[in-house]
Amino acid sequence: MKRADKAVRIAQVLDAHFPAPAIPLQHDDPFTLLVAVLLSAQCTDVRVNQVTPGLFAKARTPQAMATLPVPVIRELIRPCGLSPQKAKAIAGLSRILLDEHGGEVPHEADALERLPGVGHKTASVVLAQAFGVATFPVDTHIHRCAARWGLSTGRNVAQTERDLMRTFPREQWNKLHLQIIWFGRTFCPALRHVPAACPICAWAMRKARIAAKQRR
Ligand code: SF4
Repeated sequence: MKRADKAVRIAQVLDAHFPAPAIPLQHDDPFTLLVAVLLSAQCTDVRVNQVTPGLFAKARTPQAMATLPVPVIRELIRPCGLSPQKAKAIAGLSRILLDEHGGEVPHEADALERLPGVGHKTASVVLAQAFGVATFPVDTHIHRCAARWGLSTGRNVAQTERDLMRTFPREQWNKLHLQIIWFGRTFCPALRHVPAACPICAWAMRKARIAAKQRR
């Protein structure tokens, strides 16, 4: 099956299972989303959603966050892991938002990626989910699925992002990002998954690869 035909069918399967995929991280506005996405690095969304209500009860704006001492932020976010680095980044970006962006989260990828603790993926998620800008944030799970589904031969997330952007129409990118996240959480267990029973891999993955996986 050609990649373009596969992409259409994959989008149909994802639409059937996840017609209106929710944004997994709880937030009220671009700033609280930015902080939540930053906290989600190497942490589950469930854990982040347990931690952010306490943090945002103390500070939910860059103004308020910039007045919190870093050790206080660190204690509040400790369950998310990497709390020293994340606390420093949250305090630092809050000050930069105040000093350079009028207390607002910028709408431009470059400006977002210059903030401490904000890489390309975090910036893409914020642009997509806070501002509706078409992006296709790729994490390691989406990278793996894209390879298994024959949508990308990318060796890293940047190459996979380029392939997915070429393969799917721009207006589908933001929704597909969320749909693949929910697909992974629903269908892709870390261990003992059965490709032949998967709603996408069963037909999209090469037969030889399915057989090899099942022998393991
Ligand atoms: S469930 Fe398994 S087989 Fe299906 S996409 Fe996820 S990893 Fe692939």
